[in-house]
Amino acid sequence: MISQETLDIIKSKMQSSNNIVLITGSGIVPFNFETMKYYRDIPIQWVFSPYGILYYPNDFADLLRDHFDFRCVEPTQVHRLITTLAQKFNTTVLTNNMDNLHEKANLTPIHCLGSVEGRMICNLCGQVYGTNERLYSFPECDCGYILQPDVVLFGQQIPEDRWNLMQSKIKESDLIISIGASLNQLPLNQLLVNVEKDKFIIINQTATPLDSLANIVINDDDIISILQYLTK
Ligand SMILES: [Zn+2]
Repeated sequence: MISQETLDIIKSKMQSSNNIVLITGSGIVPFNFETMKYYRDIPIQWVFSPYGILYYPNDFADLLRDHFDFRCVEPTQVHRLITTLAQKFNTTVLTNNMDNLHEKANLTPIHCLGSVEGRMICNLCGQVYGTNERLYSFPECDCGYILQPDVVLFGQQIPEDRWNLMQSKIKESDLIISIGASLNQLPLNQLLVNVEKDKFIIINQTATPLDSLANIVINDDDIISILQYLTK
């Protein structure tokens, strides 16, 4: 249980900050892809990768349709509260989530790993499709190869310009609050490993590998109440 005193410290830090970075992760979404270890008995790192497109094309395509179709998924109360926070303070939101639920809650975040709502790309012939329409039928290129959404698959690099943008946002910030991010995966943990302890706050349901780097760590299930207090 979080103490009132800690909440007040966080609130006053937010009020005195000019440049806040909020980080969000799978802890705020209805489906937690990070806890998925296997898809049809194949390690998820194999399926959701360029290797998966090559060797398990049907599984890759089905995985996309099973778990990356967010057309009917609505943003949660946490998304809406984060929008309110971002409107109240000068805030940049970095998200590890590949859905567009922040956008649906009227916020434009930086997608660390890209978004499935964007374009689709063929890794064989190089063709780029402006929409992700094919994701929902069968994600196949005209050349016959399986398309990938414009997200970073396992084994792929984050585009350099996006990496540089995220780094500069972190560097320019005077307060970083991570909300519902497990921080156990690249790129976020790599991005945050050198931040000044004094400006780093972690709010998550469970412990994260970066907890020792943060000034304040809150492990609490009730992220909604915390955000409601901070937005008041
Ligand atoms: Zn192609």
